[in-house]
Amino acid sequence: MTPSMTTELVPKTAALKDNHPLVGTSVMPVCRMCKQNYPQAQFITGNGPRYQVCSRCGVEHGLADPEDTPQFYSDEILNARLSLYTRRHLPWVSVLIGWFLFLSIGRGIELWSGLFFGVLALSSLIVPVLHFMGTTRFIAELSRITP
Ligand SMILES: [Zn+2]
Repeated sequence: MTPSMTTELVPKTAALKDNHPLVGTSVMPVCRMCKQNYPQAQFITGNGPRYQVCSRCGVEHGLADPEDTPQFYSDEILNARLSLYTRRHLPWVSVLIGWFLFLSIGRGIELWSGLFFGVLALSSLIVPVLHFMGTTRFIAELSRITP
């Protein structure tokens, strides 16, 4: 019985310790350099010049290594993530735009409307299948470029 009582007590104490500073600083702290508000997790730790500086300013002013600030994505990682998300969602956007074009201007053109409709119907069937088949690869690639 005693171990279960201690495990019950520990989270409560931890919760109290975590909550206490938030009572005084309910607003998010301000970065000394860019005067932006960020959650506490976005700040680099340290005293002197490193005190109350957000990770972006810390990296830009050479106060912190990019390796020490996992909360701050570097430009390469941002680009890689953006292109990964784009490749993931571009087929959906293309199909949506295709249907929009077909319904607005694509109907009533001899021969082409039928062809257009055929391609749209086919891609509407294929895109979801490819999307779910690529889910595992997408998650793997995303975790690879998430610091
Ligand atoms: Zn800043």
